[in-house]
Amino acid sequence: TPAANTDFVRALVRQDNEQGTFGGRVQTRFPPEPNGYLHIGHAKAIVIDFGIARDFDGVCNLRLDDTNPDTEEAEYVESIMADIEWLGFDPPRPIKHASDYFGQLYEWAELLIGRGLAYVDDSDPETISAQRGGYGKPGIESPFRSRSPEENLDLFRRMRAGEFPDGSRVLRARIDMNHENMQLRDPIMYRIRRAHHYRTGDEWCIYPTYDWAHGQSDAIEGVTHSLCTLEFQDNRALYDWYLEQLPLPSDQPRQTEFARLEMTHTVTSKRKLRQLISDGVVEGWDDPRMPTLSGLRRRGYPPAAIREFCDYIGVTKTNSRQSIELLESFVRREHNATAQRRMAVTRPLKLILDDWPTDADGNPVVEWFELTNNPENAEDGTRRVPFTGELWIEADDFAEVPPPKFFRLSPGREVRLRGAFLVTATGVEKDADGTILAVHATHDPESRGGNAPDGRKVKSTMHWVSAPHAVDATVALYHRLFSAEVPGERTGEVLDDLNPDSVEILTGAKIEQALADTPAGRVVQFERLGYFAHDPREPLLFHRTVGLRDEWAN
Ligand code: ATP
Ligand code: MG
Ligand code: MG
Repeated sequence: TPAANTDFVRALVRQDNEQGTFGGRVQTRFPPEPNGYLHIGHAKAIVIDFGIARDFDGVCNLRLDDTNPDTEEAEYVESIMADIEWLGFDPPRPIKHASDYFGQLYEWAELLIGRGLAYVDDSDPETISAQRGGYGKPGIESPFRSRSPEENLDLFRRMRAGEFPDGSRVLRARIDMNHENMQLRDPIMYRIRRAHHYRTGDEWCIYPTYDWAHGQSDAIEGVTHSLCTLEFQDNRALYDWYLEQLPLPSDQPRQTEFARLEMTHTVTSKRKLRQLISDGVVEGWDDPRMPTLSGLRRRGYPPAAIREFCDYIGVTKTNSRQSIELLESFVRREHNATAQRRMAVTRPLKLILDDWPTDADGNPVVEWFELTNNPENAEDGTRRVPFTGELWIEADDFAEVPPPKFFRLSPGREVRLRGAFLVTATGVEKDADGTILAVHATHDPESRGGNAPDGRKVKSTMHWVSAPHAVDATVALYHRLFSAEVPGERTGEVLDDLNPDSVEILTGAKIEQALADTPAGRVVQFERLGYFAHDPREPLLFHRTVGLRDEWAN
């Protein structure tokens, strides 16, 4: 892992430890809002937050940043916990919630009001936002800014008691309406909102903003290093300002920003991902085309490959888009070592051996071949695979008139059926329209196991499945969800770059019995075709995780 040991955040933590800044303590947190499922971008943050805590013998809390009752749901909390565990991290229990601190935050708000550092503003949201002004443009002080602490305290208590309608008043910090950092121009601390919160129910009708909740939650938990993405850079001054006003139970935590992860051919925004679901583009958060952790899991991405990818790209200060092919290379490397090999025919064509023997009762003979499960790992052993005179082969592996450089099966040509026999095509059977119904062939009985007794060369080795033994299966092939490398680059709208053909479902696949017996969720290699994950819920549905080679490279 090139970057992991030397990144700027770890350097900072090491320096803090050397200088005794936090008494040598290291505590981080991962703070998702439970308003959607985690995606590959969150994986980067998880690997950084939990990884740094682990490297410095510290603690990393999972804290649900649940301050917005309109968008948050318990379903998302469950999925977030399951995804973090799947990724290989184990947050301390009980997990934390920003909503645990609503009481403390409220008390601290009263404290700021008492010291003239916060006021109730009756302006509507448009007015407040217009008052902010802009860069190089002074702000306008609200007419309510000069209310006395007593009046503010009374109004704030009545806000909490539910005396005022939703949106009619807010609590604002009283900082500086001409500050060059817009975040410090009297930011909003509380809004009135009557909505059922998935955790606190109807206990509150005022809710803290992200900025008012975040740093204080960090301080309450004893966080030392609060790591977040670059878009919060301007919020840091406000993070510090709030903390400096309050009697903290611990050292004042420090926020440090790192670059967001973006990937080619996909999006990492919960809002856009939610839209893909509501527009019916994908079937749900765990659709195998989604960059969500649950989608990648169902697709067959191993958690170790995601962790290694995150370690490899490291922690930097510059936003950049990583190629999806790079992530896939980690997935492929992991599966090459661990996935067992199986045979599956995705677009079946019948191959009939006219010289195949029958037994004394006139039934076709069944030969059993011992095939290696994983050439990369002898411990995976072998399995017995039946062979008969009636087989399924891949339709693409036969050409009646072979084009140049086509070395697979064609009339008069000999090929190897993997681990079984050498066979030579003799002719085809067609229907009235000329569609090929079956290929006829003969086999060399001396080539048992697939080796020519006289050492003659055959150019191709093909996979096959014995037709009488085959099990029917469905195979889903995935292509890029967005055809553009940078979705939205042309028009500003990512949905304009959706690939209309991002999934191809093959319902008539023929697979060997050992493959049908693959446990739910397991990934295997279909020989010559790629890595495929058995769906966790639907038996005999296989998702292509990734091809055997990078087909996208030239
Ligand atoms: P979205 O815009 O998708 O809703 P978010 O940043 O609002 O993302 P949160 O649930 O608040 O999502 O994120 C939790 C943590 O994960 C935050 O610390 C955030 O900075 C980090 N994070 C979110 N997206 C990414 C990303 N693409 N790359 C790196 N870290 C991310
Ligand atoms: Mg957020
Ligand atoms: Mg968000």
